[in-house]
Amino acid sequence: MTTPSFFDEGALVGVLTTQPLDRLLDYKAPEGGCFLGAFVEVPLGPRKVLGVVWGPGQGDYDASKIRSVIRVLDAVPMMPEMMEFLGRAADYTLTPMPAMLRLATRSPGLGDPPSMRKVYRLGQGEPDRMTDARRRVLQALSDYGGLSFTLGELAEAAGVTTSVVKGLVKHGVVREEESPRDLPYPRLDPDLPGVELSAEQAAAAETLQAAVRAHSYGTTLLKGVTGSGKTEVYLEAVAECLARGRQALVLLPEIALTAEFLKRVEARFGAMPAEWHSGVTMTERRRAWRMVGEAGAQLVVGARSALFLPYRDLGLIVVDEEHDTSYKQEDGVLYNARDMAVLRASICSAQVVLASATPSLESWANAEAGKYAKLELPTRFGAAELPAMRAIDMRLEQLPSNRWISPTLQRAVEQRLEAGEQALLFLNRRGYAPVTICRACGHQIGCDHCDARMVEHRFLKRLVCHQCGETKPMPTACPNCEAEDRLAPVGPGVERMQEEAAALFPQARLAVLSSDLYGSARALKAQIEAIAGGDADIIIGTQLVAKGHNFPLLTLVGVIDADLGLQGSDLRAAERTFQLMRQVAGRAGRTERRGEALLQTYQPEHSVIRAILSGDEEGFWRAEAQERRQAGVPPYGRMAGIVLSSPDVQEVFDVGGVLARNDAPLRRIGAQVYGPAPAPIARIRGRHRVRLLVKAAKTAKLQEALAAWVAQVKLPTNLRLSVDIDPQSFY
Ligand code: ADP
Ligand code: ZN
Repeated sequence: MTTPSFFDEGALVGVLTTQPLDRLLDYKAPEGGCFLGAFVEVPLGPRKVLGVVWGPGQGDYDASKIRSVIRVLDAVPMMPEMMEFLGRAADYTLTPMPAMLRLATRSPGLGDPPSMRKVYRLGQGEPDRMTDARRRVLQALSDYGGLSFTLGELAEAAGVTTSVVKGLVKHGVVREEESPRDLPYPRLDPDLPGVELSAEQAAAAETLQAAVRAHSYGTTLLKGVTGSGKTEVYLEAVAECLARGRQALVLLPEIALTAEFLKRVEARFGAMPAEWHSGVTMTERRRAWRMVGEAGAQLVVGARSALFLPYRDLGLIVVDEEHDTSYKQEDGVLYNARDMAVLRASICSAQVVLASATPSLESWANAEAGKYAKLELPTRFGAAELPAMRAIDMRLEQLPSNRWISPTLQRAVEQRLEAGEQALLFLNRRGYAPVTICRACGHQIGCDHCDARMVEHRFLKRLVCHQCGETKPMPTACPNCEAEDRLAPVGPGVERMQEEAAALFPQARLAVLSSDLYGSARALKAQIEAIAGGDADIIIGTQLVAKGHNFPLLTLVGVIDADLGLQGSDLRAAERTFQLMRQVAGRAGRTERRGEALLQTYQPEHSVIRAILSGDEEGFWRAEAQERRQAGVPPYGRMAGIVLSSPDVQEVFDVGGVLARNDAPLRRIGAQVYGPAPAPIARIRGRHRVRLLVKAAKTAKLQEALAAWVAQVKLPTNLRLSVDIDPQSFY
């Protein structure tokens, strides 16, 4: 039986709400009926809640008690493909449907009537008296042709007070009109000329365009060293998609990258696309959500949650820097935007482009296995060459205590400064010092709510817990033994590196780039632009700088601690270090000047460090793939992490034990369960945490088995259980 697409007034409909209920609720269709997928407001107890008409009602409820849908909201009904996407994403991530629906309805004012605002246009006739100010208003209106202004915008454009405009309105020379607040985005023109592509780039662009033209699903891994022109190439695929009248989405891993990217879009297509991320104002979010749904936005540039916008006809998804860990959402719904992009595209016959200089092993393996197509751009564009990479063997360097810049690195920086070029000192640690220790009693200051040490942030003059965000003032006395003035920082963070750099290079202008130092995305963007323009000689940065920014004057990258990521038991530690180091090194020498990357390490013979230096990527991937295959771990096996948390430590271990003992549903698919064990961070925000790990073969039906397994236990009210399919981090 096919689902009807329209329900007449009074017909029973099943509504999915955003409330945490495990089933659809029956209602009667309202006056005028409603479409399948309609966004509606329904009564639930004494409240009114948001929902979507998901199908016909079940009818297993006392008909006389069934209430009516209150109203249909002013929004285009959800497309069937979006309903299918949410359902399949829910199944994959073992997420309840209401939580999925919340992701898809994150528009402010979704329930509001279409709101209007006053706009001003050129009217008719002549004013009684023409003044200079009045002339400027009329000039501004005719200069901008069909564009309509708000009162404030018009006054500003003409350089007059608002009363001048109002005077003209009185004479009818300027017209005041009501216009919908959410305007379509200006049209992007795919026919504007792009840059002239090199033969290699043109061939890659041509292949992607042909795939877009085919109007079918496919995923392509676009692999190319930083600066090889991946962005230029995939913009041509976007152009093709827009020319076909379909919508396109470009996902970026970092808000700070969008400014630079938007400029390139504007240069290529003549106008700005829609933006969707946490730095966008409520008004713009609302406009973006609506316009994507009404096909008034051709291109969206955004963060992972942009996957859940109500596209009318999505033809292309680009996931830039596809290996980036920020694509994995680590709280709430645990999903990987890269994988969800592939799912979304397969449902709506769209193409996916995964772009990276250092792909994730997952994508590399999928390309090897022929599931993804692969395109390579092996050389940098134009004169730019990859930087020369060298290790600095720290065992041979003379360093006083509490110093981290080796004499070798110091000399290299000095040379760059003399040449008027920029140097980057990279350290992937925020704050001043990762540990604060009492020299009297040895106590290390920890967070009161977590099993984590607090990190001193000297700019903020506070200690900060990087797990829960708790902060407290830096104490003068040890909280343990009360000794005064005996607390000392241990180890470096970027703020401490700045201190050291200031002492070593007193003439240099320093800039610190770390995500916590900027109040807003805007401030960060401004800082990045200023640095790119030459406002600093030495940049001291965390992984924030590794991601795609162009710093044309930068010719030296000094990695303070290349060994940092190699510690720890994370299954992806090697892969991550390899990617991060190659990305950071790629920041150097993006223009004519040859760059150099120096890695300070205590283990220059380590296989990962050697692979980074030699640049033998294929060799590295093959060795890494081999190890993972032998261990039966992703991408050659499947994994799920289960975290139980509760204020009651006994309870988490008890429930964990019950789950581990009742593993029949898992054994049926040949999966093994490990644990329960205290999670690496055994307490966060006062909740004790216990982990179980499930491993299964690649082909096993893991989700179904997990659902059956977890359903066996009745969870105490205070206990939270979260399942993380394909976990990326193990904290
Ligand atoms: P990637 O995305 O691979 O890091 P980009 O597309 O950002 O590379 O290209 C690096 C730089 O080279 C950019 O400034 C870009 O504008 C420039 N560039 C790349 N290809 C061309 C081209 N064919 N013509 C002109 N400039 C190009
Ligand atoms: Zn904490």
